[in-house]
Amino acid sequence: MNVRFAGNAAMHALFAALLAAGCGGREAVREEWETMGTWARVEIHGVDAERGREGVAAVRAVFDSVTALMNAWDPSSEIGRLNDAPAGVPFPLSPWLDECLARAEDVGAASGGAFDPTADPLMRLWGFYRREGRLPSQAEIDSARALLGGYRHDRAGRAVIKEREGVRFDLGGIAKGFAVDRASERLRALGVPGALIDLGGNLYCLGAPPGKDRWRVGIRNPLDPGALFAAVETAEGAVATSGSYERFVTIDGRRYGHIMNPATGRPAEGSLSATVLTPDATLGDALSTALFVLGPARAKEVLAESYPGVDAILVLPADSDGEPHRVFLTGRLKGRVTLLPGMETLFVLL
Ligand code: ADP
Ligand code: MG
Repeated sequence: MNVRFAGNAAMHALFAALLAAGCGGREAVREEWETMGTWARVEIHGVDAERGREGVAAVRAVFDSVTALMNAWDPSSEIGRLNDAPAGVPFPLSPWLDECLARAEDVGAASGGAFDPTADPLMRLWGFYRREGRLPSQAEIDSARALLGGYRHDRAGRAVIKEREGVRFDLGGIAKGFAVDRASERLRALGVPGALIDLGGNLYCLGAPPGKDRWRVGIRNPLDPGALFAAVETAEGAVATSGSYERFVTIDGRRYGHIMNPATGRPAEGSLSATVLTPDATLGDALSTALFVLGPARAKEVLAESYPGVDAILVLPADSDGEPHRVFLTGRLKGRVTLLPGMETLFVLL
C-alpha cells in the first residue's frame, strides 16, 4: 500500500505573500514559528519594538497553553487524557476546554452535525494518526460512526461523561481559531492598535493597518497552496480558511483530505476550500470546516438560518473540463473579493 502523509510544507514561504497582500511592511514586530502542527505568524503595528515583542511573547504563551489543552496527538494533553478516560465517569474540564467544546457543539448543532468534535475515531480509521492510510471497510466506517456524539457535556458542572467506550474528541477543527481569539484578547489588553495573526489559515485582523481603515488579506489557492488566488477586504475580524490541501493521506495513489463528513464517515468531497469572515476566530475556524463539508447549497441555508451576519467564500471544482473553478461569494462580499492577476482564467467569481 502506497501511503504518504503530508503537512504544511508550503506554509512558511506563503507568509511573505500574505503580507504583500496585507498592508505593506511598517510593522513594529513580525515573527513566525511552528506551533499546533502548523505555522503561526504575527505582525504587530503601532507600538514600539519592545511592546511589540511583549505582544509576540503573549501570543506564543497562549498558543502553548492551548496546545497543552487541546493537542489530541499528545496523550498527556487535557484532551489526550479525556480521550483515554473510561465511559460513565465524569471528566472535569478546564475553563478553556469547556468553552471551546461548547462552541464546537453549537456549530455542530447549527450545521446539522457537519462539524463534530468527536470525529477522532474517523480520523484514526482513515490513518491520520498512525500516518498510514488504508481504505476502511464499510463495517469499520459504521462502527466508527456509531461512536460520534456518544457523550454528555454538563456545561454547568464543566464536565464530560462518555456514554460509550471508544468515544474520542478531536478539536483540530476549532482549537486554532480559539487560540487566535485568546491571543487577540491579550494583544488588545496590551494596548496594541493594529495586528495580524495567522495560525495555519486562521487569520485575525485586529484594529486597522497603519494609515488604512481596512485590511486586505490573501486567500490561499486551493490548487496551489503555496500561493494565493484572491484577496478580500475586511475591517477588524477573522478570516478563516479550511481546505483538504492542509493535510491528507494518500492511499493507493489517491489523496484523501483531513476533513471528515460525519454523515458518510468518509473524507468530505466536493469542496476545494471554504473561507469564512466572522467577528470571532473560534466561530470562523469551526464554520469554515463545517461549510467545507456541507458544500454551497447547504452552506447558504446554514448561514441564513443561524449566522446571518457571516460571509463566506466557497471554492468548488469546475463544472466541466477546461472551465474555471467556481468561487461562490455571499452577497455582502461581492465587490470586496478580487482575483489576483493571472487567476482570471482559473477561477470565476459567482
Ligand atoms: P485546517 O485549518 O488544518 O484546514 P480545519 O479547521 O479545516 O483544519 O479542521 C480540520 C481538522 O478538524 C482535522 O484535521 C480534524 O482534526 C478535525 N476534523 C475533521 N473532520 C471534522 C469534522 N467534520 N468536524 C470537526 N472537526 C473535524
Ligand atoms: Mg476549522
